[in-house]
Amino acid sequence: MKIDYFHIALYAAALLISTTSFIFTVIQQRTDKLQNKLYILLVTIVALNAGTQIVNEFAKPFVLEDQAYFTTVKICEYLYFLLHTALCPAFCLYVLSVCGGRAAITVKKNLLYSSLFLITEFMVIINPLTRWVYHFDDNRQFVRGWAENLIYVAAAVYFVFSIFMLLFTWNALTMKRKLALIYFFLLVVAGVVVQFININIKSELFAEALALLGVMTAIESEDDRIDIDTGLYNRKALQTDLSSFIINNRAFCIICLKVTNSELVERATGSENTDRLPMAVAAYLRTLVPRYCVYNTSPGTFIVTVMDSSEKKALAMSFTIIKRFDEPWVFGDTELMLNAVIMEAKIPDRIKSASDAFYMADCPVPSNNDKKILSGSDLDFLMRRAAVESAVNRGLDEKNFEVYYQPTFNLSDRKLHGAEALIRLHDSIIGNIYPDEFIPIAEQIGMIDAIDDFVLREVCEFVKSGIPMKYGIECINVNLSVIECMQPGFVKHINKVTDEYRIEKKHINFEITESVAASDYELLSKVVSALKADGFHFSMDDYGTGYSNMRAIFLLDFDVVKIDKSILWSAEESELGKIILENSVRMIKQMKREILVEGVETQHQIDLLTDLSVDYLQGYFFSKPIPKSDFIKLISLGKES
Ligand code: C2E
Ligand code: CA
Ligand code: CA
Repeated sequence: MKIDYFHIALYAAALLISTTSFIFTVIQQRTDKLQNKLYILLVTIVALNAGTQIVNEFAKPFVLEDQAYFTTVKICEYLYFLLHTALCPAFCLYVLSVCGGRAAITVKKNLLYSSLFLITEFMVIINPLTRWVYHFDDNRQFVRGWAENLIYVAAAVYFVFSIFMLLFTWNALTMKRKLALIYFFLLVVAGVVVQFININIKSELFAEALALLGVMTAIESEDDRIDIDTGLYNRKALQTDLSSFIINNRAFCIICLKVTNSELVERATGSENTDRLPMAVAAYLRTLVPRYCVYNTSPGTFIVTVMDSSEKKALAMSFTIIKRFDEPWVFGDTELMLNAVIMEAKIPDRIKSASDAFYMADCPVPSNNDKKILSGSDLDFLMRRAAVESAVNRGLDEKNFEVYYQPTFNLSDRKLHGAEALIRLHDSIIGNIYPDEFIPIAEQIGMIDAIDDFVLREVCEFVKSGIPMKYGIECINVNLSVIECMQPGFVKHINKVTDEYRIEKKHINFEITESVAASDYELLSKVVSALKADGFHFSMDDYGTGYSNMRAIFLLDFDVVKIDKSILWSAEESELGKIILENSVRMIKQMKREILVEGVETQHQIDLLTDLSVDYLQGYFFSKPIPKSDFIKLISLGKES
């Protein structure tokens, strides 16, 4: 019998590949997570297996001639079986931890899970006595025993369980992870099948080593999970980890730390040093929890996961962290005092999804709160936000949105002038929700276009019916989100919708609030001019609320400026308020814009506005916003004040 170099070549390839994976994993210091440790265990098993098989192949031809060679072969086979029996259970654990499921295994399940492994491993250990797994015949040749089949069955069970885990967490896994794991399964199965069919092709270890190399590049590598500049786990990492923990029903806590004066660091150390704060704070957090539990979602915001189902530990940690902020932070030569707020929440009790967690990370710290640590019911606003978000999401499909109308009147003759369309949301679960609450959320989740579209279509339908015009309404006001106006193709879209209903465009008046975001006057002004050229009217909404200003009125071609109710109300309360109202009216008139005042609730206010001779009035004094049918009744009665 000769040395089989073909066998050796395949084993050597497996040895080289798995050693390379081992070395690169260690070099890149990916050794702290349980997942990393399991990976290292896997490549180590494959490498050692390949090593024993190489020695085996060299010794095998000489077993008959020399006892020492025979002993070597015996030791190698023994080691091979000891290690290889552990490979599949270890891999199964690895998949479980990639899918985020470790804690889901209870002690009972743990025993069940490991019993197969323990039985088979025990059989291998006692094989020198029993010879159940394998033995050597009189010619010192290797012979399989019945128990080897049992090892194969156990391996298959673990394998199937891993696939089941993969399918179970399918939606929480990134595409890259899914593909890498599927490829792994296919390659390993192919390797085993080929070797099973032809014992001379030693493909099993080779395929395993190769598949693990793929796993290293696609799963163990954290390039897309880590911010290049700071080396911290990013939003994507948080998203993936939270989703997989949640899908596995794991109970744990998250601590969201917000540094509220983070801009101070840049100001004090130079704007090129944007990474200093995250790195310093994360370095501190990593003294409390393992590296992989700290995420940095925006420069001043950190999320720490505490994998403990009781909230005690997380709360204690929150206190420790907030205490650290009593001490200065050192950035080079500069010492700074930083302010921080912590939100601590339990998953899944308070936070139900990764998007809830992101909302917590991204929401502004509630300004009416002087607590440094918010937890439990302090975070109810998060739950409310999540509930409103789902209500908005299902609103259009379930037809829960309704357009209300609020009439506007001429001041001079108190005759009906127009109406403002105001949206309402009637949700079957959380009841009626007002636009002040849900419009900002709709803007954040990208639903505002669809909602404003819905309102515009409803209004077009109403105008098309001819009813409003029959009772003297010149135009109906439709609120638009500025975010939407700035989008490409907006002018075309508006024309397309109104053309569908074949209505005259002069009957539609768009209200926009000049918000801080709309710093791009040039673009906004082009949009307004283009739509005005098509026949639409425009009003500036909420004049005096801080966003709108004289410059905007001057630059944008509005027909009407709507003075916010707060200006009217403070004019009644103080002399300064009165001066502001009077001067606003005077300046707007000088700019040749018509004036509507909102929030008119009393006769006294009407008298005040009569003195100032503004053009139009809107408010509860005349009518609250009401459903369309009520509105039709109201205008058909020719109700005048
Ligand atoms: P807004 O455009 O300033 O609408 C006027 C708000 O003042 C309405 O609140 C209206 O009900 C209320 N109001 C009118 N008269 C009086 C009064 O005499 N006293 C008092 N206390 N309030 C009065 P609403 O309907 O809750 O709407 C709030 C905001 O939601 C609106 O402010 C507008 O910015 C936004 N909004 C409403 N409908 C839509 C819509 O279809 N699309 C968009 N993008 N935003 C909308
Ligand atoms: Ca409005
Ligand atoms: Ca308004």
